[in-house]
Amino acid sequence: MNTLGPARESIVRERIARATGFTLIELLAALVLLAAPVRGDEPAAPRPVQSVADAMSLALPGTVELQGWLGDKLGLCLNRRVWAQNPEPLVAIIRNHHDNGDWRGEYWGKWYSAAVLGYACQPTPERRGQLEQVVREVIKSQGSDGYLGSYGEKDRLTVWDVWCRKYVLLGLLAAYDLTGDKTALEAARRDADNLIDDLERRKIKLVEIGVAELKGVANSSIIEPVALLYQRTGDRKYLAFAQSIIAQWNAPYSTAPQGIHLLEKALEGAPPLQNHAYAIMSCFEGICELYRATGDRQYLDAAVRFGQSVRRHERMIDGSASNHELFCEGARNQTEFLEKPQETCATVTWIKLCAQLLRLTGEPVWADEMELSLYNAMMGAMTPSGEWFGYFTQLTGERVPSFIAHDDLNLSCCVASAPRGLLLTPRWAVMTAPDGPVVNLYAPGTAAIKLADGAEVKIVQDTDYPVSEQVKLTISPVRKQRFTLRLRIPAWSKRTALAVNGEPVACEPGMYAKLDREWTPGDQVLLTLDLRGRVLPAPSGAPQLALMRGPILLALDNRLVQPTDTAVWLSADTDGIVQLKPLAAKPAWAWMAFEVPFQVHPSHFYGHYTTNLALCDFSSAGNDWSEKNLYRTWLPQPLFLGNAFPSHTWNLLNPHSAAEPRPVIPTRVQAKDATAKP
Ligand SMILES: [Zn+2]
Repeated sequence: MNTLGPARESIVRERIARATGFTLIELLAALVLLAAPVRGDEPAAPRPVQSVADAMSLALPGTVELQGWLGDKLGLCLNRRVWAQNPEPLVAIIRNHHDNGDWRGEYWGKWYSAAVLGYACQPTPERRGQLEQVVREVIKSQGSDGYLGSYGEKDRLTVWDVWCRKYVLLGLLAAYDLTGDKTALEAARRDADNLIDDLERRKIKLVEIGVAELKGVANSSIIEPVALLYQRTGDRKYLAFAQSIIAQWNAPYSTAPQGIHLLEKALEGAPPLQNHAYAIMSCFEGICELYRATGDRQYLDAAVRFGQSVRRHERMIDGSASNHELFCEGARNQTEFLEKPQETCATVTWIKLCAQLLRLTGEPVWADEMELSLYNAMMGAMTPSGEWFGYFTQLTGERVPSFIAHDDLNLSCCVASAPRGLLLTPRWAVMTAPDGPVVNLYAPGTAAIKLADGAEVKIVQDTDYPVSEQVKLTISPVRKQRFTLRLRIPAWSKRTALAVNGEPVACEPGMYAKLDREWTPGDQVLLTLDLRGRVLPAPSGAPQLALMRGPILLALDNRLVQPTDTAVWLSADTDGIVQLKPLAAKPAWAWMAFEVPFQVHPSHFYGHYTTNLALCDFSSAGNDWSEKNLYRTWLPQPLFLGNAFPSHTWNLLNPHSAAEPRPVIPTRVQAKDATAKP
C-alpha cells in the first residue's frame, strides 16, 4: 500500500508535544480547554486531564508504509471496500431517524473511523475534503436538544440506540482527532450530554435498556468514547458517567439479578462472561482509555487480566473468538462444529484491544496476538478482491460471504467493521518507545520514526517474511546517534538468529531484543526467525492437532488434497517439530503451500510409511468462497481422508435459518476486475 508521508498537522502536534514534554493527549486537552468558549454551564476552572504516558506509541499517521503481499491486501481493503463505499446512505440513516429497533446507525461511525485510518495511509487532499464534508453532513443532523443518532424521538434509549450513538461518537472523535475541528468535538459533547441528561431525567439505568439478552454489555461499551471525551475536554462529567457504568455492573439489575461485575471478575482472573464478545472487548478498550485518562492502576490490571483470560479461555487457533457472537469457551470448543463461530467484528475488536494493551504495557505478547489474528482470522475473512468479508469464520468447513444485513445499503456489521482492524496494521507495525523505535511486524516496507529529540530514523525492511524466515533491516538515523531499537522476537521462535552488522546478538523468544547502541546510517540488522512447522495440541485434550509455521496456521484444502480411503497421522518429532517443504507446484490461489509428512499405518504395528499431503496457509484455504471449496485446520489423529472435508457447513452459518440460500457478495459491490491490483 502506497503511503505518502506524515499528515502535516500530526507532525506539528508531535513536535509541540516533544518540545513541551507533555503527551499528545495532555496537550490536545489543554489546547481544547484554552480555545473553548467560556459558557456559563461549564465548570469555572476545568481540571486538566491526568494522563498516563503510553509505554509505546502507535506510529504517527502516514509514517509507515507496508509493501509486498500484506501491503497489497491492505490496499485492496482500502480501495475496494472503504473508498468504494458511498457514505451518503450511511449519513442518511442518522439524518432520517428511521432505525427504531434496528442497528444500522452503527455503520457511519464504523466506516468513518476506518476511513480515517485509511486516510493516514493515503493522505490526499481529496480524501481529506471528503472526510471533512461527511462529518459536516452528520453534524447537520443533530437535534436542537443535542441528540445525534438514528432513532426517532419516542424510541430513543431503546434496543440499539445507545450502541449506535457509541459509533456516532467514535466517528465524531475520529474527525476531531484528524482535523482538530472543534465543531466535531462539540457535537460529540452535546450528544453525550443529551444521553447523560436523558438517563438522569428518566431515571433509567444504562445497563437495563437495550437488548435484554445482552445484559447491558453493548450499551456499556459507550465507555470508550465517553472516556475519550473526558481526555479531550477535561470535563469530569464524562469521567463520572464512564465510572457510573462500571458501578452499575456491580449491583443487581433487571436483566442481571447478580450484576455482571465485568471489572471485578477480570481482576480476579475469571473467564470472560459468556455474553457478547466484541461488545465486552469494547468495554475493555474503554477501560484502557479510563486508565490512560486517570492513571488508576485497577483499570490497567483489569484490562490486562481480561486480555490474558481471553487468550486462555476464548481465543481460537487462528486468532479470533466467539460463537453466535458470544464468548463460548472457544479455546476448549474450537475443535468441534460451532454453528456461528468467530464473528469478524470479534477479530477486529480483539486486534484493537491488543493494540491498546501493547501501547499501555509494552509487552510483546500482545503484538504476537495481533500478528496471529491479522494473518489468519482477519485475512481469511476478506474476499480475494477485498470488497467483502465473511460474517463468521469456520475452522473446518467453507468460507461464506457475510449475509447482507440491510439490502438497501449492501452492508453488514462485519463488512463495515473489518477495515478498522486491517487498516490499523501500519500504526502498530512499527511503534515508538521513549528511548527508540519498536519493530513489531516484519514485512517489506519503510518506517520514518521520530526519536524523543525530534531526529528521524528511517527503517527499511527487506524481506518476504512470513514466507521465508530472513528479515534484513537497514537502520538509518540522519547522523550517528545512540538509541534503543526493539525487535519483537515472537514467543514461537525458539531458534532465532540476530546479528548487527554481522556481529551475533543474543535474544529470547517472547521478548523484545533491545539493541542499545550508537547507530550509523546504513547499519544492517539481520534477523532469522524459526519457521519450522510446529504441532499444537487441542486445548481441550481432544486427540486433534493443528499445524503452525511461524504466525501462519496451515490448513488442508480440497483443491490440494483429494479424499481417499486412508487414515493418516501427522508426523512430528519428539519436540513437536514437523519437516515442511515448499510445494514445488504451488497454485496461484495459495499464498503459501507446503508438503507435510503424515504417517500411514496400513497394518497394526509394522509396515508403517510416510506420505506427504499439501497444506496451505489458512487465509488462502477455501478462498474460492464456494460450497465446493472445503478446508480443515484441526486434524483428528488419525485423520480419515475419506471424511476430511465436511460439506454444506454453510448451513450452520446462516444467521437466521438453514432454509435461507447461501449468502453471496452483493452484485453491486463485487469488484469488477477481481484479479487486478489496487
Ligand atoms: Zn459483525
